[in-house]
Amino acid sequence: MDDRAGGFSRNHYFNGKMLAAKDFQAEQEYHIGKRRLLNRCLFGSRVVCGLTVKINGSSIFVDGGLALDCCGREIYVPSSGRIALPKRRGSSFLTISYREFGTDPLPIPMFPEDPQQEGFEHSRIRESFKLGWGTENPLKEHEWRDGAWVTCGKSHPLVLAQIASKQGRFIINKTFAKKIDAGRTCWCKEKG
Ligand SMILES: [Zn+2]
Ligand SMILES: [Zn+2]
Repeated sequence: MDDRAGGFSRNHYFNGKMLAAKDFQAEQEYHIGKRRLLNRCLFGSRVVCGLTVKINGSSIFVDGGLALDCCGREIYVPSSGRIALPKRRGSSFLTISYREFGTDPLPIPMFPEDPQQEGFEHSRIRESFKLGWGTENPLKEHEWRDGAWVTCGKSHPLVLAQIASKQGRFIINKTFAKKIDAGRTCWCKEKG
């Protein structure tokens, strides 16, 4: 076993060290990577708080809240939102996935030592989420233990609710909702 393969590596600073973008990226990757490892290993993939699903007429509302996915990434939903009902009949799973995208583009300064670089680059990364519908639970092959799915390290969406349509009416599966409830272990005041 080679203890230098994989694993974590962090910046070591000293006065006069030349810092480039890759060093600041390494700084972020170290802390983000470690936090996600802890999330995965300590908590599994679960709805931590909020993200309660309610049907109101022909709309589905999802409360703000926090979930953790199979990579230990935090899926944070700052406020409640609406999603259209599934188009298909029968049983559907409402899923949430982690998303991120670049914002705030800035022109790249010209460096004589790196003439390949030109144009614009995003100066920020926005961390977001995406709600969707699936015909089956994307975590169905995952073991369920103590209110969470055992994490596999791959980019899997998380299920918020199972919804069935019967004669044009949509109903939330209560047994599945209880399963999700078991993972809500948050102590914050805002979202129960
Ligand atoms: Zn997984
Ligand atoms: Zn909370």
